[in-house]
Amino acid sequence: MKYFQPQSVREAVEIARTSEADFLAGGTDLVLHMQTGKIQPIALIDLGKISELKLIRKTPEYLEIGSMATFAELGQNELIDKHAHALWLACQTMGSPQIRNQATLGGNLGNCSPAADGLPPLLALGAEVELISGNGDEVVSLERLLSRTPLLTQDTLIRGFRIPLKGLQSGFAKLGRRRALAIARLSVAVAIEIEGDLATDVRVALGAVGRRAFLSESLAQELSGQEINEAWIEKGVEQVQRIVREALGARASAPYKRVAVAGVFREALASFIPEGGLKA
Ligand SMILES: Cc1cc2nc3c(=O)[nH]c(=O)nc-3n(C[C@H](O)[C@H](O)[C@H](O)COP(=O)(O)OP(=O)(O)OC[C@H]3O[C@@H](n4cnc5c(N)ncnc54)[C@H](O)[C@@H]3O)c2cc1C
Repeated sequence: MKYFQPQSVREAVEIARTSEADFLAGGTDLVLHMQTGKIQPIALIDLGKISELKLIRKTPEYLEIGSMATFAELGQNELIDKHAHALWLACQTMGSPQIRNQATLGGNLGNCSPAADGLPPLLALGAEVELISGNGDEVVSLERLLSRTPLLTQDTLIRGFRIPLKGLQSGFAKLGRRRALAIARLSVAVAIEIEGDLATDVRVALGAVGRRAFLSESLAQELSGQEINEAWIEKGVEQVQRIVREALGARASAPYKRVAVAGVFREALASFIPEGGLKA
């Protein structure tokens, strides 16, 4: 099998376009898939030497994250903690310390498992994804990207993510520990824009209740523009249970997940709403 180690994004995309090779990031998913025979790449393009893909920085408008930033790097970064707290929280509980050292956020999206821990926080925070392919550059909201099939064409490189700096407060919680190949059973990310005592814009994303993580439009409508109090939380619990019931239909896990999501939703809120309520 051929192995390439490009020094730049353009070089990587050009190799992908001409060689039908697969991108290799941390390899925590890809190498396993190769071992089990699920994927048999013709060639690999190791992205590890492209330093721009590892950047984590703040511009006046965005928090920018290169696709090769690892979960360990993100989970130790103060900018992520401050401006993308839900993602920071997800990085603390993802996999094991060894996995977090290897696994990248770009690979999490590239693999796009239903239980990918990075995706609900990015969805809730309104992240956009920067893509580069033989056809040119594109910036697309993660929400829209996740509705595409296939997610990416073979020669499309995820350059990185940009999270608008809107001063959102956010949190994350998940149920179930991921052992070896078992997947997280449920995850919830919540991001809220606050004005005074009001939650003006509420975004809730769910993981492991569908084929891919998704943002709930109806929850946003039900919960936005209101004061955060116990009644609001109860309404959220009721609605999130309805969404899980609708998403899972008659699947065997449905009754269990419908009950469990109530606790995970509360935990996600408690991960950033201090006792006594929100402070603007
Ligand atoms: C023991 C174990 C525990 C795990 N626990 C968790 C967990 O708790 N939560 C969780 O979410 N995941 C978990 N995972 C899954 C995995 O670690 C993550 O999905 C990880 O983020 C994948 O990143 P990677 O850098 O290793 O990607 P790779 O394995 O290198 O790549 C994955 C896929 O993405 C593509 N890709 C990678 N980078 C790019 C790019 N820049 N542009 C385009 N395509 C790209 C690759 O071609 C490949 O198809 C676990 C895996 C293992 C083995």
